[in-house]
Amino acid sequence: MSLAERIADLFFVPKCIICSAVIERPGICIKCQGELAEAVKPVRGVEFLEEVRAAYIYEGALRDAVHRFKFGGKKSYAAVMGDRMLPLLERMEARPQVISWVPTSAERLRKRGYDQAQVLAEYIAGRAGLPCRRLLTRRRSGKQSNLGNKAARVANAAGAFRTAEDVSGLSILLVDDVVTTGATLSECARVLLTEGASEVRACAFACVKGIVK
Ligand SMILES: [Zn+2]
Repeated sequence: MSLAERIADLFFVPKCIICSAVIERPGICIKCQGELAEAVKPVRGVEFLEEVRAAYIYEGALRDAVHRFKFGGKKSYAAVMGDRMLPLLERMEARPQVISWVPTSAERLRKRGYDQAQVLAEYIAGRAGLPCRRLLTRRRSGKQSNLGNKAARVANAAGAFRTAEDVSGLSILLVDDVVTTGATLSECARVLLTEGASEVRACAFACVKGIVK
């Protein structure tokens, strides 16, 4: 450990990832746990996926926390978010053979320094005792964050992904941070199934309210 790391360690104060209240261990404080809206039902209607589950509804302070995780360098949130996603895996109708993720573009990766979905996937796979593999690559950058409607997202996702290795016969769990329209997940699953994957499921930390029916 470097001197700088030792000093940071010495002054490290665990905080709630949602409201930044100081707590005993890094996590989500009791108050926020009571206030966050859980996504109780599975996400419906995402084409090509057997099952899609999310832990929470993407709104309010949780939305801000996800933004800090994605854009604000808060990579350490992955452990807290991943812990909340592990029960989703337990609830799945079938256990996947391999965990992968919806990859971000190379351009964004350079800007942010890490792929947030990959960090989440690796954490979850480690805790679940499953292999985590890069099964997809993203061919080009889409302006996904700015696309509001589903049609625009479907068009944007089409042709954006390809497989990075042989996926034939695999049952796969894709990890992502947020499900908005499901268009990106759907396109990833379509590509994996076309290349011979046996089935694709997905879990996310959060999903937009309208998609849980
Ligand atoms: Zn809190």
